[in-house]
Amino acid sequence: MDNICRRCGSDEESIDHIFLHCPFPKAVWLGSPFGLRIPLDPTFTVSQWLQQVLKIDKTFKSLGEQVFSYVAFMFWTLWKMQNDLYFNQQVHKLEVAILRASKVCWTPPRPGNVKLNANVAWRQHHVRHGLGYVVRDDHGTPLFAVSKLGSFLSVSIGEASMIKARLLQIIQAGFINVTVESDNLEVIQMLQRKTKVADPYLADILKEIVSLVTGSNLCITFEYIPINVNVVAHVLARKAMSCVEQVLWPLTSHGWLMCVI
Ligand SMILES: [Zn+2]
Repeated sequence: MDNICRRCGSDEESIDHIFLHCPFPKAVWLGSPFGLRIPLDPTFTVSQWLQQVLKIDKTFKSLGEQVFSYVAFMFWTLWKMQNDLYFNQQVHKLEVAILRASKVCWTPPRPGNVKLNANVAWRQHHVRHGLGYVVRDDHGTPLFAVSKLGSFLSVSIGEASMIKARLLQIIQAGFINVTVESDNLEVIQMLQRKTKVADPYLADILKEIVSLVTGSNLCITFEYIPINVNVVAHVLARKAMSCVEQVLWPLTSHGWLMCVI
């Protein structure tokens, strides 16, 4: 057979085999943070798999979104690895693939630190937009999670203003080691002083954020994360669209995020 799978050498190569039925992707899906099991039925297709994921999306919207983003990311990773095998004869180890896959999950901050995750849901042709943020401790326990409406001239101005206000709140609460994560690459790169700020208004806000750190004993780091990893803040920001003004989500039970959907 000409089109035998070059990875396992035991089955015909097809889209369904490359992404689902070959032992390599099967193990990667199972080793993922969601422990996804591919059905044993060899006729099960990628299209059925996507439908199954979309079903999870409808049942548990917030969790489903994570799973769906993860599945999309995994297809891309597996496809890249397949290309590496075909065109560069590069064989990826299973452990490496699983490790790469697990990196798409949010991780808690270092011991003693807190982490702020922020996101803006921008609505075209609207005056008010959604803001979402969550602050979590080193166990990943949320300290507060908020959905809020706000008016601002651009996504970056909204994001920077939110980061500034939340940092002040976190500092007032007595924390000195803070990690700020956002999926707004522009704002994060500016805060990391990797790029210059063209907008003077935005520049002023960013200067105020940076001045919080300068000359103090605070340790604040700014990190970019993809939107699928920033999923909680993203869900909170989207939820703000249906809020009247601001909602502080109750954190008394572990299922608090389910209240948000
Ligand atoms: Zn195979």
